[in-house]
Amino acid sequence: MVIAGAGMAGLCAAALARELGAEPVVLEKGSRPGGSMLLSSCVVWRYQTFQDFRAECPGGDEQLQRTVFDGFDQALDWLVSLGPEVVWEETPNPRTTGKRFDAHSLTETLVRAAGDVRFGQGLRTVPVAWPDEPLVLATGGFAVRYAREHGLLVRCNPWSEGDGLDFARAHGATTAGDLDEFYGRAMPAPPARIGAEDFVRLSQLWDGEARFLNERGDEFFNRPPAWHESDLAQAIARQPGGTAWFAVPPEYRDDPRVVGLREAGGTVYEEDGELHLHVAAAVTATQGGINVGPDAQVEGVDGLFAAGADVGGVSTGGYSSGLAAALVLGRTAAENALR
Ligand SMILES: Cc1cc2nc3c(=O)[nH]c(=O)nc-3n(C[C@H](O)[C@H](O)[C@H](O)COP(=O)(O)OP(=O)(O)OC[C@H]3O[C@@H](n4cnc5c(N)ncnc54)[C@H](O)[C@@H]3O)c2cc1C
Repeated sequence: MVIAGAGMAGLCAAALARELGAEPVVLEKGSRPGGSMLLSSCVVWRYQTFQDFRAECPGGDEQLQRTVFDGFDQALDWLVSLGPEVVWEETPNPRTTGKRFDAHSLTETLVRAAGDVRFGQGLRTVPVAWPDEPLVLATGGFAVRYAREHGLLVRCNPWSEGDGLDFARAHGATTAGDLDEFYGRAMPAPPARIGAEDFVRLSQLWDGEARFLNERGDEFFNRPPAWHESDLAQAIARQPGGTAWFAVPPEYRDDPRVVGLREAGGTVYEEDGELHLHVAAAVTATQGGINVGPDAQVEGVDGLFAAGADVGGVSTGGYSSGLAAALVLGRTAAENALR
């Protein structure tokens, strides 16, 4: 079995495949393992109830959501059993349940369990034996390409450019979900410089505390953002330049969000009793992608599987844990690929 991508989905697929007696090879395009997981807050979670999952992500494929929801608890126990450092035993959000891991420890643990991981070897550059042996696409979606094409910031690993999606489509796959929908955040706008290690710290999450103005000075978002604020990031992406100004009360002058934005070289000014923070939409993960069945097999393409952010239709219309989808679908893909 060949697995493309050494992020959460690919490493979980490989680790389980090895446990089941196979000798999977993981091809990783980048120079390090962990994909976006390594840069993340690493909270692996599900909604408390399936009803809530459906209500939060109403456009998603119900069967696929069932797979992720129903498989979550067992998959999380398995992940913990591998021995990574657990930072939170439970999420602080009463609507969700899950755990937070140390991202470095989880990556190291999964690489050890995965076995044969080869770096600098992408799906585009290395011939794979598919369809003679199963192939799992776990290349992390196309966030980098989407950001480039729409003039937005990248807030994920630099290698997820849609290689898995292109491969699947070239072999007859269809897509699921909305290819124009992404999960993202407002981040300090250029000239701010943001290193990947600061993606979490410098996120501009202001909930109802801010007014949201575009470059013309028009308020373009007149309701409190959803709890994950991805709806706001997508609305910013549709404004001129993909940028916006958050107007917040001056008492926030020394707030870590404002201090961080300023220290990164971003723009802040005070006018009419408000602080104005310059932000830009940043893409963390695309939500549309390859159409797979509940067994993670690419619809209509034998021996081809997909997992994680390469799969479309899990979170359509809202947000659910990308790490949970990667964990569960990675394991599902490995199990079914070995059948
Ligand atoms: C700052 C930040 C915070 C986040 N916080 C959370 C959180 O707390 N909870 C949560 O659930 N989610 C969170 N996420 C999202 C989560 O990290 C992703 O949804 C998840 O990592 C997706 O897993 P994946 O395996 O599908 O993709 P990735 O982790 O992105 O891995 C894909 C891998 O494939 C590789 N690749 C790309 N192209 C090729 C190719 N052609 N051949 C071989 N390999 C290739 C990439 O280099 C990468 O290593 C966060 C993300 C970021 C960036």
